[in-house]
Amino acid sequence: MSYVDNIIALVEKKDAGQPEFIQAAKEVLDSLRIIVDQDSIYEKAGLLERLIEPERMIAFRIPWVDDAGKVHVNRGFRVQYNSAIGPYKGGIRFHPSVNQSIIKFLGFEQTLKNSLTGLPMGGGKGGCDFDPKGKSENEVMRFCQSFMTELYRHIGPDTDVPAGDIGVGAREVGFMYGQYKRIVNNFTGVFTGKGLTWGGSLGRTEATGYGLVYIVDEYLKTISDGFKGKKVVISGSGNVAIFAAQKAQSLGATVIGMSDSNGFICHKEGINLDTMKDVKLVKRERLTKYAEVHKDAVYTEASKGRVWDIACDIALPCATQNELFIDDAKNLVKNGCKIVGEGANMPTTMDATEYLLGNGIAFFPGKAANAGGVSTSGLEMSQNSTRLSWSFDEVDAKLKNIMAGIFKSMDSAAKEYGKPGNFVLGANVAGFKKVAKAMLDQGVI
Ligand code: NDP
Repeated sequence: MSYVDNIIALVEKKDAGQPEFIQAAKEVLDSLRIIVDQDSIYEKAGLLERLIEPERMIAFRIPWVDDAGKVHVNRGFRVQYNSAIGPYKGGIRFHPSVNQSIIKFLGFEQTLKNSLTGLPMGGGKGGCDFDPKGKSENEVMRFCQSFMTELYRHIGPDTDVPAGDIGVGAREVGFMYGQYKRIVNNFTGVFTGKGLTWGGSLGRTEATGYGLVYIVDEYLKTISDGFKGKKVVISGSGNVAIFAAQKAQSLGATVIGMSDSNGFICHKEGINLDTMKDVKLVKRERLTKYAEVHKDAVYTEASKGRVWDIACDIALPCATQNELFIDDAKNLVKNGCKIVGEGANMPTTMDATEYLLGNGIAFFPGKAANAGGVSTSGLEMSQNSTRLSWSFDEVDAKLKNIMAGIFKSMDSAAKEYGKPGNFVLGANVAGFKKVAKAMLDQGVI
């Protein structure tokens, strides 16, 4: 068996019961054969064994009291995956599905993603099985304070810098940062995605969605094309989805479909983003409300159809992991879709990814395509360190440059290793090379 096969077997044995982590690890390891099996230096240094094992995995209890006085206990995690190229960096997710497997897969992906940005950030991720849906503002605040009362001892501006993710937006970051500051008595840039009046960066809210559209646009330019006139379908209606839709529309595309965890909207005239933001970001309601406002939009329950059934030129999965399956991939191809760009982390299953690649779809993996968020977090850290604030246009221009750089790195790596257009391989290889070099330089640690 080759070195890579041995490591895949090791992961399957050691991490049995962690399907999302095994899925992410296998996809990356498979791409790395082309480098790792050609040079014995990696096996000699035990590099893959070290790359797949987090440096540290913290699990903790989060007790909190609801408005009725009942005590609840949730389980929190922080994985500090790899610090070879910088302090651990990665978001915090609040969602009932959160478990060790999901946090590990996200932290592993984050390590390579952060490397691709070209900024000095290691990989980390955190979260909790808490569901903010249906909780009062005070309950969310008490929960966030309890979460941080444990997490604070493990993080710091040069150690580990968390940010938001699913279920953690500006409100939750504010509550967690407030508690951190109160405990350590120190105003530092220990979080990104902060509010604009207390150290946040302009452009961070929009960055992941905008970055996704920028990287796809970078590709379109190589075939002398652009977003203008394209029909776009986006899953999710949270932070990433809404700002991807905003940027795609500003470049002349029509976004005709969006979803949430209960169903999806098809609006052939184009999604009205003012309504969408009001329903999902301000009022935190269900998508059915959108169809109540726009009578020409059609709402379909998740049990009765898929957002990927809507014919489009470009599909942008921006909701969650494993939300675009093989049958969805077949439908997209059949209906003429040419591009799939992952705004979410690992939204496409492995067989669906293979199908899309095998059918000539330009496929942009999340670790490259959604790196705009963490890149702008990196820019927020730079602004905090120098105590400066850049304008929106400055940050946005830097984001655009970073996304163009990521496109170039993965495109070049795919070509160099004989698989032009295979951006999955390109992103994995380009992200890995930088981390691997740093790990080899730093010895067996
Ligand atoms: P949000 O919580 O803001 O939004 C998530 C959206 O996805 C909501 O509309 C939610 O619907 C929907 N959703 C969640 N689960 C499902 C499901 N099973 N089926 C269909 N829809 C679902 O999260 P973000 O937009 O921040 O994150 C989305 C994805 O992007 C995640 O994979 C995240 O890891 C990734 N990402 C986010 C970054 C960021 O900067 N925020 C950076 C890089 C990656 P509902 O309203 O019903 O819950």
